Amino acid sequence: MLQPVAVGHKSLADYTHLVGRDLTAEVRELASELEGLKVLHLSATAFGGGVSEILYTLLPLMRDVGLDAHWHVMIGREEFYNATKLMHNALQGHPLDLSPSEWRIYEDYNEMNARELESGWDVIIVHDPQPALVRQHVADKARNWIWRCHIDLSTPHPPTLDHLVPFLREYDGSVFHLRQYVPDGLGGDTVHICPPAIDPLSPKNMALSPEDAAFVCDQFGIDVDRPLMCQVSRFDPWKDPIGVIDAYRSVTAEIPNVQLALVGSMATDDPEGWTFFNSTLEHARGDEDIKILNNLNNVGAIEVNAFQSQADVLVQKSTREGFGLTVSEALWKARPFIGGDVGGIPLQVEDGRTGYLVSSPAECAERTIEILGEPALGKRLGRAGKEHVREHFLTPRLLRDWLRIFGGLA
Ligand code: UDP
Repeated sequence: MLQPVAVGHKSLADYTHLVGRDLTAEVRELASELEGLKVLHLSATAFGGGVSEILYTLLPLMRDVGLDAHWHVMIGREEFYNATKLMHNALQGHPLDLSPSEWRIYEDYNEMNARELESGWDVIIVHDPQPALVRQHVADKARNWIWRCHIDLSTPHPPTLDHLVPFLREYDGSVFHLRQYVPDGLGGDTVHICPPAIDPLSPKNMALSPEDAAFVCDQFGIDVDRPLMCQVSRFDPWKDPIGVIDAYRSVTAEIPNVQLALVGSMATDDPEGWTFFNSTLEHARGDEDIKILNNLNNVGAIEVNAFQSQADVLVQKSTREGFGLTVSEALWKARPFIGGDVGGIPLQVEDGRTGYLVSSPAECAERTIEILGEPALGKRLGRAGKEHVREHFLTPRLLRDWLRIFGGLA
């Protein structure tokens, strides 16, 4: 029932020139004490979203430094994903708890998946709430269990979180992006704060020449000689693409030749996503300078990279954001960045130094006009943003944090 995920090979040595010798040496030193540690990552999916994005890089690097690391995904059906989607929304603040039968479905799938789990692990890392109840059925299959939370738990719907916390408390450790996401009732020295990271060598983040970026954007109808604003994110109300369109409209009043690209991935089985995609289209009112693209138009990792590398201003105007991998991805391209002042974005953006933080479409427009009018400012922000990501948000740092946590357990 649990499916192993195949990942490619990666070598820590390839990252040395990007993160520096000190960090890679520290990683190797920590890893030398953990040779052969049997680690299993357990998650709900191997496609789409931040968790899989992270694991496709973290897992090969864990192996490269000597750990016996694996990744399994749980199996569910529509009824399970409907229940866990509700749960996800409630945990991030939507005031609607699961019904008793939805809780039952959630528990049953966790139990079914637990039965399939092999034993003999040193550490099992359970990602997010979907598989969080596997542990209670088979606690003896690993010496240590860690719950890794990727979502914003700072303002949850209380009944939903209260239902889960007793199970989470049984874990030997838990890991959150930010201190403010740690729920009451989980605390002490088994809680670790450790934000995620991006892979600077993946197709989405590797260096792309300006000519190649322009070539790709041109194929999507972008005029590469005119200024471009861009946001990359799912079509989701919390990501506020409508607000980005409003900001763009205010910018056009001063800079009429500006263009906007909204690049967002779609899941074929997410009706909510399509509804919101359509309302975003409607809001664009047929403006030819607004390009609304998704993965069904063949926008993959390289295309995301090209749009981020080409844009004159990158935006992530979220009104809620757990971390925002797209923020680090954008900053890594050394382009000037404007983000919503929420969740994990301020961790990545120091207002006025590595980008700008805004709280409304009007502020977003104002900062965009400022940046487009002063290329030297954009360059300075972009460079500082990239260095901030280099120091804090590349995968070797995340690997080091995990090794420290494992060292503490051993
Ligand atoms: N993403 C993508 N194509 C898109 C939109 C998003 O590949 O059209 C990726 C994006 O680059 C990032 C991830 O999906 O790596 C989204 O992670 P993030 O933390 O920004 O937001 P989430 O979607 O998890 O809320």
